[in-house]
Amino acid sequence: VSQALRIGKIRGITLRLHWSWLAAAALLALADSPLLLYLVALMPIVLLHELGHGLVAQRFGLHVLDITFWPLGGFARMSRMPEDGRVAGLVAVAGPAVNLGLALLALPLAFLPDPAGRIAWVFALVNLLLGATNLLPSFPLDGGHVLRALLARRSGWVRATERVVGIGRWIALAMVVGGLLYLNILLALFGFFFWMAGAQELLAVRLRHGLPPFGGMPFGGGRGAAAREDEMRAGEPYSEAPPASGGRRPEESDGAEARPPGAGFSEGDIERLERFPGPLRRLREDP
Ligand SMILES: [Zn+2]
Repeated sequence: VSQALRIGKIRGITLRLHWSWLAAAALLALADSPLLLYLVALMPIVLLHELGHGLVAQRFGLHVLDITFWPLGGFARMSRMPEDGRVAGLVAVAGPAVNLGLALLALPLAFLPDPAGRIAWVFALVNLLLGATNLLPSFPLDGGHVLRALLARRSGWVRATERVVGIGRWIALAMVVGGLLYLNILLALFGFFFWMAGAQELLAVRLRHGLPPFGGMPFGGGRGAAAREDEMRAGEPYSEAPPASGGRRPEESDGAEARPPGAGFSEGDIERLERFPGPLRRLREDP
């Protein structure tokens, strides 16, 4: 069941408005707030950012399901990203690159007489801000994905994920502490959200690689599960399950359920996984 209103389609990608966007727009309209104008004016910018991701993904043969607007921006849903630094990196960098490109294009127009000059200036500034913030090296932001893609070229996907999650935790911590110090609840909430997004990403990647899903994860991420990867390879060999006959996609045979307990998981791991509102649960809810 989709919680978003369908509003159009571009290159086979459905565009949707999330209910929270509609709620925010309704509230702002009721309050007669000028923020409503910003919410609407942001849409084309957000759309171009997400299309940057989406079109590059399509070029690599990935399926892009939809782009959804919500009050804080947008997100594109697509087939699972391959653990390929080039593909994942280019798809991730394409969004912020669109914004930085738009800012560069608009900047010369800022010298036109007002109001055109003023509009161009605000447009350039918003794009610059959007591009730069999204490049912060933390999940779930594009910058986290870009950095992992770069690191993965040397150290492999799991270790690169651990490193980025480690960096992201410092950023998240700084946001929470800063938010509490300056009574900026939104900033603190975002910090918490970043922390959880990193934890979720780490869990998903470790599960996919049949590694112990929890623990061993200081801020630096140096001695995490990846450090144990080699030991596990030496001990109990983990082999990627081949796509079963009958057209089952690899995703369906992925995750802990497809693997007998004990393949890298302790009883405690499995207990915690069942409580974690993450990828494992989502797999179970999939029809
Ligand atoms: Zn993006």
